[in-house]
Amino acid sequence: MFDTHVHLHFSNYDSDREEVILRSKEKGVDYLIDVGINLEDSREALKLAQRYSFIHTAVGVHPHYANEDRIEEFGGLVRDKKTVAIGEVGLDYFKNPIAKETQERTFRKFIRLAKDNHLPLIIHSRSGRDNGNAYLDALEILEQEEASQGVFHCFGGDKEVARRVLNQGFFISFTGNLTFPNAQKTREVASFLPLNKILLETDCPFLAPQQKRGRRNEPAYVRYVAEALAEIKNVSFEEVVRITTENAKGLFGVK
Ligand SMILES: [Zn+2]
Repeated sequence: MFDTHVHLHFSNYDSDREEVILRSKEKGVDYLIDVGINLEDSREALKLAQRYSFIHTAVGVHPHYANEDRIEEFGGLVRDKKTVAIGEVGLDYFKNPIAKETQERTFRKFIRLAKDNHLPLIIHSRSGRDNGNAYLDALEILEQEEASQGVFHCFGGDKEVARRVLNQGFFISFTGNLTFPNAQKTREVASFLPLNKILLETDCPFLAPQQKRGRRNEPAYVRYVAEALAEIKNVSFEEVVRITTENAKGLFGVK
């Protein structure tokens, strides 16, 4: 399995990081992308990736940190051979005090950084209750910037948004969000999508699947996401694992 979005460098794992990583491997997780959320954090993510051959990294600035993008300091991180993506970057309108204009400006800078370095984007997108649709805004920006390589992570949009994401050339990735009882809409989107455009992720330590709800998430639990997807698609677990792993290896250029 390929868990395409983890934050194993977070302090949540300070007491047992090594065990969690080894357990992932034991439970069949052969590839991991450890994702940074700002400059300092991306440095930590890369450091972790450098210690394990099966961990790669994505470096970027989450929209919660969009007002301190410090993009000129990302050069060395981006050029490291363990860096396989730019992210997470995007737009977040859910209780985010940072102005939309600031978020958009930072998002555009990192899209250009990704394009200049021929790296895919890992996009974080979350709408608020009534202040606009972050997915549609992100898609419009990607269209304008002619960016067509990457993934919308932890997808929570509807079918129409999903269709546009595919048209833009992007993949869609699901977390434990696919397993929640109230996630019927998300499962409908997954059922509509072709399997060759779907990636798996945990987004750990967040979003533990229903079977582990309320606990700290970890990469070993990505199999619950794969199981949910197999049920939705009415194919075997092995088939889901095989195809989503190939998808991720192709997108991120991981051998
Ligand atoms: Zn994340």
